[in-house]
Amino acid sequence: MNARSAAASAWAKHERAIVGCAKCPRLRKHCLEIARVKRKSYAGDTYWGKPIVGFGDTRARLVLVGLAPAAHGANRTGRVFTGDRSGDWLYRALHKAGFANQPTSTHARDGLALTDAFVTATVKCAPPDNKPTPAEIARCLPYLDWEIARLDRARVYLALGKIGWDAAWDVLKRAGLASGARPAFGHNQAVELASGKYLLGSYHPSQQNTFTGRLTEPMFDAVFEKARTLF
Ligand code: SF4
Repeated sequence: MNARSAAASAWAKHERAIVGCAKCPRLRKHCLEIARVKRKSYAGDTYWGKPIVGFGDTRARLVLVGLAPAAHGANRTGRVFTGDRSGDWLYRALHKAGFANQPTSTHARDGLALTDAFVTATVKCAPPDNKPTPAEIARCLPYLDWEIARLDRARVYLALGKIGWDAAWDVLKRAGLASGARPAFGHNQAVELASGKYLLGSYHPSQQNTFTGRLTEPMFDAVFEKARTLF
């Protein structure tokens, strides 16, 4: 087996472990219940209802770390940040910045492909009210540890929201890329890590932020422009 197929096989094994994971009974129950009841507007859809794996280019220089799948977004479509408003914002921005081949992400077989960007989440199961408990985050972080270790071409880790920032910092510290006290989260703020890599923060493109104007489209675009300057 050559290096590329060995890497693909390791990723496939990692993804199977995530999809079959049942370490958080509260979250698994919630995802399945959402998938059973469904939102009225998606009544005809078959919900995924399982943990969500990362998506994108495993040789990426830009690695995005979000919070968790949305109940009727990724938990429905089976692909991270897909089928909800946050994903609309994210993939539109990634497309504008040249990381995505299309600006929309509606379902898992819609042809979306990322180049030089990989999207993952701190917690792989949709939590009630988008709020995983500290214990659930801790249980899920070993998956992110594995991903950060494998995504060794990364130059910029883009944390979407404070939970993603905190998780990314802790994981980067365990990976030997960060040291000292965790720096404060700030929108479009970058912290230099070891080996010339950076942790960059952005407000999460949740409706809570985009509807209120806390995060505007130009503000979000500026984050991706900055990421490119840090490569
Ligand atoms: S949140 Fe993570 S650790 Fe918990 S059940 Fe889902 S995949 Fe497993």
